[in-house]
Amino acid sequence: MTMAGALLTPFMANAAKAEYKWKMVTTWPKNFPGLGTGANELAKLINDMSDGRIEVKVYGAKELVGALEVFDAVSRGTAELGHSAAYYWKGKVPAGQFFTSVPFGLTAQEMNGWIFTGGGLELWHEVYEPFGIVPMPGGNTGVQMGGWFNKRIDSLADVKGLKMRIPGLGGEVLKRAGGTPVLLPGSEIFPALQSGTIDATEWVGPYNDLAFGLNKAAKYYYYPGWHEPGSSMEILINKKALEGLPENLQSIVLNATKIANADMLADFTTRNHAALGQLMSKGDIELLPFPKDVLAELKVLSEQVVEEEAQKDEMSKKVYASYKAYRDQVIKWHDISEKAYLNARSPE
Ligand code: CA
Repeated sequence: MTMAGALLTPFMANAAKAEYKWKMVTTWPKNFPGLGTGANELAKLINDMSDGRIEVKVYGAKELVGALEVFDAVSRGTAELGHSAAYYWKGKVPAGQFFTSVPFGLTAQEMNGWIFTGGGLELWHEVYEPFGIVPMPGGNTGVQMGGWFNKRIDSLADVKGLKMRIPGLGGEVLKRAGGTPVLLPGSEIFPALQSGTIDATEWVGPYNDLAFGLNKAAKYYYYPGWHEPGSSMEILINKKALEGLPENLQSIVLNATKIANADMLADFTTRNHAALGQLMSKGDIELLPFPKDVLAELKVLSEQVVEEEAQKDEMSKKVYASYKAYRDQVIKWHDISEKAYLNARSPE
């Protein structure tokens, strides 16, 4: 080996033999903890597992396309890959919402069960087929936080007139409760909350909320995230680009998404509790549970909203039927397993 050869880093050696140069557009700020770093990990996995034959360059929000233009960019082939969440496209693909999170719906563990072995993934592929996109789950945040509020929520009446950043079905429930949901990409949340353009926001959980400094813009930090009990991110793959790969590389791309999917939940699980400790040590934050009757009322509204949304088009109806059947069954099992155990471990 020549000296120059010995000095080549593995990445440079790989870059020289890239046969496929792919772009990945993301909804997240570049390198954003958990979400952006999850997208980076996927790119690295594909590069490493393909021994450099596929090189993936990751773009943060607005670097190539806007945060909420990821779906269209992958659909038209501007980028071969995307990293986002399906509920951002609810105006265009309403059935997609069920693959992110449903208020009072499945947890992360249950979402993975439904998607991978309960029929969810086949349906998701069918939903995105007309757009030339192959979707895969792209990580899960676990149960999110209820959000940051500039006033206490003591009853459902306190939600009336509340302008809150909250996407997807959760936003529709807020509207039903008399609030005004606003859809903002992550990077725009802090200035909106600080300037009073919005009164409240949800984002993800301590790990991500601390990264945006949301604790500096509102005082009351509520739990649990009833609206996002286990949000699945998504990896969008341009179908033509995927099918243009030799079969072994197709398998590498698809299997790399599964590793990235599992790793993100581990990352959030580990870092959320550490970040919560950091947030609380900063003082001047009130960590509060939503009152039980508020949650009970939100649950009733959620059931109405979700049932109605699910009837809006044929595909939503079909996806929701599968989701609901799975949920009804898994609740019975988890009541006597996960829930019973968690209650035994930390009795009230
Ligand atoms: Ca959220």
